[in-house]
Amino acid sequence: MDSAGQPHSNPPPFLAFVSRLVAFFLLLLAAKNAYYGTSLVLTAALSCLVLALSVDIRAHRQGRPQPIPIPAILALLWLILSYAVYASGGSRLMWAFPSIVGVFFITRRRNAIGFSVMTLLSMTCITLFQGDTGIALRFAAALGFSILFLDLATSQINALQKRIVEASHRDPLTNCFNRRQLEVTAEEIQPKQSAALVLIDVDHFKLINDTQGHVAGDRVLVLIADILRQQLNPEDLLFRIGGEEFALILPNSDTEAGARLAERLRDAVSDTKFPVQGRITISIGVTAFDTAQPLPRLLERADKLLYQAKRGGRNQVCADGPGATTGRNLEPAE
Ligand code: GH3
Ligand code: MG
Ligand code: MG
Repeated sequence: MDSAGQPHSNPPPFLAFVSRLVAFFLLLLAAKNAYYGTSLVLTAALSCLVLALSVDIRAHRQGRPQPIPIPAILALLWLILSYAVYASGGSRLMWAFPSIVGVFFITRRRNAIGFSVMTLLSMTCITLFQGDTGIALRFAAALGFSILFLDLATSQINALQKRIVEASHRDPLTNCFNRRQLEVTAEEIQPKQSAALVLIDVDHFKLINDTQGHVAGDRVLVLIADILRQQLNPEDLLFRIGGEEFALILPNSDTEAGARLAERLRDAVSDTKFPVQGRITISIGVTAFDTAQPLPRLLERADKLLYQAKRGGRNQVCADGPGATTGRNLEPAE
C-alpha cells in the first residue's frame, strides 16, 4: 500500500517503455560523446545517469523500493544539462524542454517545479555569462511559460485521475463504497486484525418502490445511508452491496461491539421520521470478520443471521459468536 492507501502497482506499461527508451537514448548520447571525445565529464555523467535509471527501473519492476532517490537523479540530470550549456553553448538549451516535460509527468509536483526552476535559472545565467543575452532572455521566457502550462496541465490531470479513482470505489446514489471495494477491503484486512462484519437490509423496501415509485425508493436509500454514516466512527467502512443492502466493516472490533453498534443503527433508523414513508426499519446480521474465510463465506454467515432477524419479525439485530445478542424486536415493522 502507498501513503494514499492505494495498492502498490507497477508503472503503466507505456511509462516503463518510455523510461527504457530514455535510458537507451542517454546511453547512445554517452557513447557518441565518448567516440568523438567531446567531453569526458559529460560521458561519465551520462553513464552514471543511465546506471541510476536502470537500477531504479529494475527495482520498480520487481516491486522493491527504488534504491536511488528521485531527487538524486534529478540533481544529476540538472548538472548534465547545465554543464552541456556551459561546455557547448546555447545550442544545448533545447534539451531543457523534453527534460522538464518528462520530469513533470513522472515525478511529484514539488520535485518537478524544483528541477524546472533550477534548470531555468542555471541555463539562463550560463547563457547570459557567455554573452548571448537575447537567446538567454528568449530561452527564459519560453521555458518559464512551458513550466507554467505543464504545471497547470499535470495538476488538472492529477485532480481528474483522483476523482475517477474515487468514483470507481463508490456507489453513485448513496456515495457509500461499492461492492467491488468491499472485496478489495476484505483482502486488505490484516490477518491478525480483529474486525466485525455487519449486514443491513431495509425491511419491506419493495413496498416503498411499489407504492411510491422508484425515485422515492432512491431517496429513502440516500437518507438511510446518511443516518447510518452519522452513527459510525471514522475508521468504520460503509458499503452498499445490493439494492437495499448495506455492509459495514468495523476494523479493530468484535461481534459484541458490532452488535452494540448495530443496535444503535437500528434505533437511529426506526426513530427517524421519513418525509413520505413515516417509519422505516432495518434488519441486521453481525458476525466476526474471520480473515481465514473467503468473503463469500463471511457474507453467507452474516446473511443467515440477517434472515434470522427477518424471520424473527424484522427491525432486529442477530449476532453470532461469543457475546452474541439475540434477535430483538422492539416494535413490529409496519
Ligand atoms: P424484506 O423485508 O424481506 O427485505 O423485503 P424487501 O421488500 O425489502 O426485499 P426485496 O428483496 O423483495 O426487495 C428489494 C427491492 O429493492 C426490490 C428492488 O426493486 C429494489 N431495488 C433494488 N435496487 C434498487 C435501487 O437502486 N433503487 C430502488 N429504488 N429500488 C431498488
Ligand atoms: Mg434485500
Ligand atoms: Mg429488504
